[in-house]
Amino acid sequence: MFLDMFIYELEDLQLRGLSINNEQFFPKISKIICDAPAKSFILGVKGHTGYHGCTKCMQEGEVIKSRMTFPETSNNPRTDENFQNKVDENYHKVNIHSPFERLNIGLVSQVPLDYMHLVCLGVFKRLLIFWIKGAKDVRMKQIDLEAASADLVNNFRQCVPKEFSPPT
Ligand SMILES: [Zn+2]
Repeated sequence: MFLDMFIYELEDLQLRGLSINNEQFFPKISKIICDAPAKSFILGVKGHTGYHGCTKCMQEGEVIKSRMTFPETSNNPRTDENFQNKVDENYHKVNIHSPFERLNIGLVSQVPLDYMHLVCLGVFKRLLIFWIKGAKDVRMKQIDLEAASADLVNNFRQCVPKEFSPPT
């Protein structure tokens, strides 16, 4: 329901095109850019923290110390064709079809990974927690933490819009 009018309009534009100054244009979608939760929602697939949540390969995740991990780096890649044929039934939500399936676009190749959730809020946030509060063998010394923090405040702050909320 959320995307129906958008998809309907795109179908129409792809089929009949758009006339501008007597010239016919046929728009194409290059990429669908969204964050990981939205991606799971619009594609009708499991979330990025689920056992079958990797949108680029078909490995089953492994929980290690209460964290979902995807340790393999060379598992079977997902393809537009195996998405379309719903080859991995654990990946697709039951009886949910993505409205984007009605368009002629690759739902694996044309939907990039979400850098914010996977890298910034995923891997890098965990690294920061380990460096600040982790076990003694990985934790940074207080003096190094303060130097890194001061460096961020002095050099990075000028690159961040003031609308961003300050760290708590
Ligand atoms: Zn993967």
